[in-house]
Amino acid sequence: MPPVSPIRTSGPYCDPVANRALSEGDRVALLVPGSHAYLDVVLRLLTGGVFPIPLDPRLTTAERERILSGLDPTLFVDDEQDLAELAATLPEAGVPRGRPMHCTSGTTGTPKGVWSGLLDDAAAAALVDEERELWGFRSDDVNLVLSPLYHSAPLRFAMGTLLAGGRVVIPGPFDPEAVTAAIERDRPTTMFCVPTHLQRLFAHWDALLDSGASVPDLTCFRLVAHAGAPCPTDVKRRLIELFPPGSTWEFYGSTEGQFTACRSEEWRERPGTVGRARPGRRLTADPDGTLWCVVPDHARFTYYGDPEKTAAAWRETDDGPAFTVGDHGRIDDDGYVYLDGRREDLIISGGVNVYPAEVEQVLGECPGVDDVAVYGVPDPEWGQRVCAAVVGEVDEDELASYARSHLAPPKRPKSYVFRDVLPRTLTGKVRRTELTAEAVTPPG
Ligand code: ATP
Repeated sequence: MPPVSPIRTSGPYCDPVANRALSEGDRVALLVPGSHAYLDVVLRLLTGGVFPIPLDPRLTTAERERILSGLDPTLFVDDEQDLAELAATLPEAGVPRGRPMHCTSGTTGTPKGVWSGLLDDAAAAALVDEERELWGFRSDDVNLVLSPLYHSAPLRFAMGTLLAGGRVVIPGPFDPEAVTAAIERDRPTTMFCVPTHLQRLFAHWDALLDSGASVPDLTCFRLVAHAGAPCPTDVKRRLIELFPPGSTWEFYGSTEGQFTACRSEEWRERPGTVGRARPGRRLTADPDGTLWCVVPDHARFTYYGDPEKTAAAWRETDDGPAFTVGDHGRIDDDGYVYLDGRREDLIISGGVNVYPAEVEQVLGECPGVDDVAVYGVPDPEWGQRVCAAVVGEVDEDELASYARSHLAPPKRPKSYVFRDVLPRTLTGKVRRTELTAEAVTPPG
């Protein structure tokens, strides 16, 4: 790309480099809220072979330093004016020559920077084409953005829509009222969400109905996709009922890539599945349940600055390169995937493997339970013991009795704590490490 002029930037990471122009392969940390200008800059950077690193603008200085120190950004953009100035120096948006450099959510540790490197023209075109084919992005699409754009899935949906000539609507930080208003006003055709969004939207719509008001007309949607965390069964059923037939999908994916896609009809036939491998991917499960995804070459990535983690994530197979993000699950004879959970979340109690997701699924059906998280706590006798944090109108005896009739003994929580709300990441994942830490050192 032609060299761009240096821009004024603030922040600890730009000083040594702010006086040099951006060049191919450079990285630009973006710590500004998602907006149309933001999307424009992301596309222009990628067109020029420069990698945006989208980050949560609310990170504290210490968190920024921890994440960015390993990522080595050339520029650091943390206000709207810098963003506008940067846009003015960049080429028009064309075909992205790489994927944005996203950090994982850090649910299981320090966020990892997922880095795809520069793609050649054919690979860049293949990446755009396969996204378009997967979700059918088209020029009359209106994508409603519910999640922050520093997460990979919402950014992929927004970019895919723009690249197809469609429009993007960004109502701002998630607020059920603003989303409802945007649905009524902009008549979106697509949206990506995490289960927490759906729960909050449905609660808002219930409140509207209770107050005699009407809920929005959802017939404008052709595609509503959710991912990122297990979706409670009642939420899933309601999603399918409320939105137009055939419009609702789930996928299983991570910052590193999307593995499956699942139409709701498939889920209805096989409740609990996250679907089959998306086109161009193949999934396999090791005997211990570790899931691997075989990908085409253009979907390769490394963990930036961490060759050991990268080496542990990849292996070569006869069908091509395959990687794992450490999820466990099983694949049935027809290729449908059922997730057990993260390797890191696995509780080993008395030598028995217990997956929190399974226990949560069961306890989530116990009358009175609104939300539940299951986690392991170190135990001198058992290695780890199973514990549950519960939100709802239910007591310990009711939970214990429900567990006795629905779960084998090793899976039954040994203790319960009651909370008003569970600690969750913005992507809707429970922060189990926080619950474990609280159990080891109770607050106060
Ligand atoms: P880190 O890797 O830093 O700990 P993270 O795992 O939260 O962070 P993400 O890429 O945001 O990083 O999340 C990906 C994970 O989310 C997947 O590996 C999987 O465990 C979970 N996940 C994704 N989609 C689904 C789904 N449909 N159902 C259940 N879990 C899902």
